[in-house]
Amino acid sequence: MTTPERALKHFGIDTQLLKLAEECSELSQAALKFHEYRSVERSAALAEELADVEIMLEQMRAYFGDTPVDAQRANKITRLERRITEAETQPCPKSPPPPPQKRTPGGRHDARRVTLDGSPYPSVWAAARALGVNPSSVLQRLAKSSSCTIDGVLIKEVGK
Ligand SMILES: [Mg+2]
Repeated sequence: MTTPERALKHFGIDTQLLKLAEECSELSQAALKFHEYRSVERSAALAEELADVEIMLEQMRAYFGDTPVDAQRANKITRLERRITEAETQPCPKSPPPPPQKRTPGGRHDARRVTLDGSPYPSVWAAARALGVNPSSVLQRLAKSSSCTIDGVLIKEVGK
């Protein structure tokens, strides 16, 4: 019996599905942190989370089988190849320059000030870190409205 099969037998698929979600979330946060600021420590943390997710993916393949995953993968690789080819053969439209980004003392690019249940935070990133969630999830919610709630905490943009 392989290690992924042994893990599934020992912990069960329900537990491992939750573990997969947890590891994917950790990988997401490690990727965002490395994107935000590159360091040896953040690179090592990203590698660790990549390994964790690969281990979980091996267990999912052991559970669901290689065939459906390989079929989806082949379709998506084909689509990716087509998109790359299209992008390489079409002239790239000139895009406008990106807007200037404000920097806060913490070095965060998104300097929108927010409050968490009325307490001020210097940036969305700082607020997301305080909540232990991905900054992108906060940014997505604030893109729709000037306030939102995550885990019962009211997040509100200052000045809106
Ligand atoms: Mg992990």
